[in-house]
Amino acid sequence: MTSYSESQRLLAEASSCLAGGVASSLRAAMKPVPLYAASASGSRIRDVDGNEYIDYLLAYGPSVLGHAHPGLIERIHRAMQHGITFGLQHEGELALAKRLTEILPCADQVAFSGSGTEAVMLALRLARAYTGKRRIVRFHGHYHGWSDGIFTSFPSADMRVSGAVGGAADTILPGTAGQSESSLEDIILLPWNDEQAIESLLRDSHADIAAVITEPVMCNSGCIAPKPGYLEKLRELTAELGVVLIFDEVITGFRLALGGAQQRFGITPDLMTMGKALGGGIALSAVGGKRDIMKLIEDGTVSHLGTLNGSGVAMAAGLATIDELERNDGEALARMERLADSLTGGLRTLLEQHGIQGVVNGIGPVFHFMFVPLAEVTDFDAFSKRDSARYATFAELMLQEGVLVRPSGLWYVSAAHTEQDIAATLAAADRVLARLA
Ligand code: PMP
Repeated sequence: MTSYSESQRLLAEASSCLAGGVASSLRAAMKPVPLYAASASGSRIRDVDGNEYIDYLLAYGPSVLGHAHPGLIERIHRAMQHGITFGLQHEGELALAKRLTEILPCADQVAFSGSGTEAVMLALRLARAYTGKRRIVRFHGHYHGWSDGIFTSFPSADMRVSGAVGGAADTILPGTAGQSESSLEDIILLPWNDEQAIESLLRDSHADIAAVITEPVMCNSGCIAPKPGYLEKLRELTAELGVVLIFDEVITGFRLALGGAQQRFGITPDLMTMGKALGGGIALSAVGGKRDIMKLIEDGTVSHLGTLNGSGVAMAAGLATIDELERNDGEALARMERLADSLTGGLRTLLEQHGIQGVVNGIGPVFHFMFVPLAEVTDFDAFSKRDSARYATFAELMLQEGVLVRPSGLWYVSAAHTEQDIAATLAAADRVLARLA
């Protein structure tokens, strides 16, 4: 039997001094216990009980190069020796901003912040200031961070925060107690991947609507791809009707392509947000966008603040991540995608062999594995039919097999994973699915 006794002991001790016992509410959901990490390198992570796992949690996304990548550590170390952060301008900011404006199709300029949540806050503010309008359209099942103005209807199985779960497709529920309800007054919630719904709303109400914000792939609810033509339709309608189109690329950035989903699908939004993989594990996020919107920061119309924005360490981490992903013609991203394809293909075959109904939806090196009595999951309604409890059991049994996966079903593959990792993971999944069948 795998022992988690040290994790259990530390969690009990932490509960007296660390609110909730974990540092982010999502992490409390892991069964049988939220693990305490001891160390991590490459595709592997070890807990304080000495168990080692092939890691597909990847710190909820940032560790795109794998853990403790030597190139990343070396750059961060070098930057730290020159000073961790300055509160002055420095050449690292300039270098990373230049690289990002070359890489990201929509970004004539970028602005840095520390988390995806902050980047979304800034993007929404820019859109409102630019258009002089106040309402924001967002989609059911998408997640854009936990700030009061946007945190609603995030139906994650690993979210234990009250109010965040469920709700009909058009219901706007606060994501948590303590959230100002008036902050959601300007939000309009629509089903995603539904051209008619967005077209009729925008044609009727565009005079009040500042922005449409979307995950370009619905990664947070089933990794559902946009239907052919859907992103094009969003682009056409928003351009025609004077509404800012924002792609939230916090998950897809540096993952679906170096230039994100916008590069992969060839659709250029007006604004975008990035986080997670951008800093390779160091807190770093960015907004990128068209010059005429971003210049509202320069002329002082829109405030963009943050003590630690653009720290030397974060800029070095961003630059090193880009260098590693660009090396050998982007070989790392191509390999991640190949490995993810063989993993998702293998999981689908195993579902069939064990006679278990399930769906594996993936695009690039991120995918969602769910137990659902359907042949495919192409919208939020279908995603809602998944058996979350059964999947949580699967995730728990996978831990015993030495594979760490997020209890919600979202998997990430990193540049450090290997074919051997994939083979070992599929062998583990085979044993676990046999127990579940
Ligand atoms: N947007 C998306 C699409 C996300 O997936 C997340 C985080 N999961 C965020 C925004 C918020 O990012 P952070 O957790 O860094 O605040």
